[in-house]
Amino acid sequence: MTTDDSPTWLTEPCPSWCARQHHEGDHPEDRFHQSTPSTIDAIAGTGDAVPLTSTLHACEIVVRRGRHVGDAREWLSIESAEHPQPRMALTAESAQSLTRALLIQLGHPQI
Ligand SMILES: [Zn+2]
Repeated sequence: MTTDDSPTWLTEPCPSWCARQHHEGDHPEDRFHQSTPSTIDAIAGTGDAVPLTSTLHACEIVVRRGRHVGDAREWLSIESAEHPQPRMALTAESAQSLTRALLIQLGHPQI
C-alpha cells in the first residue's frame, strides 16, 4: 500500500488490490505489489508419481495476485500454504484461460 512513508524505490502508486506493506529495506526481488491472499482447503498434490492421485493430501491452497514494481505484467500464484509443492505462477491472462478450462472440465461448457 502506498503511504506517506512509502520507500524511495516505490516510484508508482500501488494498484487498488495491493495489500503489501512496502519498506525501504525490501530486497529488489521483493519489490512487488501483492493482494490479500484467498485461501481454500483442498486435496492437492504434485502429481509427479504413478498413480498421480497417490500424491494427493489435504492442504491449504493460497492464491495471490501480484505485479513487480515497474513491470506491467500481473501474475497469479497458486501454492500450498504448508508445503513447497504444489506451486504455480501464471500470468493474469493465463489464469483467466485456466479458469475457463477448469469450468469446462467440470461440466460448465457455457462459460
Ligand atoms: Zn503495492
